[in-house]
Amino acid sequence: MKHGTVMATTKRRNRTLPVRKAPAELIPADPKRCQAEVPNGHSFMTLGGVPGRVRCNNEPAMIINERIASTDGRRGSMSLCERCFTVFRVQMPNANVSVVLLGGENRARR
Ligand SMILES: [Zn+2]
Repeated sequence: MKHGTVMATTKRRNRTLPVRKAPAELIPADPKRCQAEVPNGHSFMTLGGVPGRVRCNNEPAMIINERIASTDGRRGSMSLCERCFTVFRVQMPNANVSVVLLGGENRARR
């Protein structure tokens, strides 16, 4: 009995060994504003503007959550508007995420 207890403790310890130092905190999902980054409208052809990406200004329609933890052992989540979700699905068709629809105005349009 005592021996079994020791075994269990050892097992638990071994399981925590591969965990590396925790990286920076994950950014929590923002239910108020879409968290995707979209092109800022400038290209190398627009004068006076710098091409880049800015955060989307739309109200989010959903929060997506990773179903499987990434290599750092954590599962990320972010809010997306419908437009950005469409882009996400095209760019990452194999992403394993669950989708939680948000209420409010976006809901009424469905
Ligand atoms: Zn968006």
